[in-house]
Amino acid sequence: MELQIAPTSRAAETIGESSPPEELIAWSLEKFADRRMVLSTAFGMEGCVLIDMYARDGRPLEVVYLDTMFFFPETYALRDRLITRYPHLEFVNRGTSLTPEDQRRIHGDELWKRDPDACCRLRKIEPMHEVMSEVDVWITGVRKSQSETRAGTRVLEWDWRYQLLKLCPLAHWDRRQVWDYVRANDVPYNPLHEQGYPTIGCTHCTRPVPGSQIGEYSRDGRWGDTRKKECGLHGEGI
Ligand code: SF4
Repeated sequence: MELQIAPTSRAAETIGESSPPEELIAWSLEKFADRRMVLSTAFGMEGCVLIDMYARDGRPLEVVYLDTMFFFPETYALRDRLITRYPHLEFVNRGTSLTPEDQRRIHGDELWKRDPDACCRLRKIEPMHEVMSEVDVWITGVRKSQSETRAGTRVLEWDWRYQLLKLCPLAHWDRRQVWDYVRANDVPYNPLHEQGYPTIGCTHCTRPVPGSQIGEYSRDGRWGDTRKKECGLHGEGI
């Protein structure tokens, strides 16, 4: 795949690391209009903000999510609210077809406890590879300040693993800015954020973080007391 990313418009000439998300988004919609561009989300707060920002343009966009079949009920309800709120966006579930029952039969009971990397590989990484093999430009809500392993995130970079352009419009934002945008624009968000969950993944592997505030980010509630803090979708961990 060959992608021309040299600036072609006045707006593009000013695009760079310090560009605000809205400018990066407007630029990407023009620049990659004839490319397969998808926004992936697990319906975290950052993903909801990106969905809202892209929706404002009015053009259709594919929003891909990987239903692990272990989402919280609140996450499914949020997905449905987003679908209703943004009818011109196409929400597509590209999650695994491996049912929890089949996983138990093939890999044993509670794989997420015994080998969470293997469980994430089955339910997240492998489905993600399938999606990304069809995509030219991948939009994600990853931010630099989310974790040490994400500190090197750039607003636009070549992703060697998936062989595509990765666009992270919120790379330089912090959780406070994300939350302020949610409130200012009445963006739908997961109510679990108000119950001590800074991030929300699968039911088996997500816990509230005592004392956490909704405008603060932490990955401490993921995978309990283990060292694992990433599912591996963004190049870290497995
Ligand atoms: S987050 Fe937990 S339950 Fe979900 S895929 Fe990973 S190990 Fe499995």
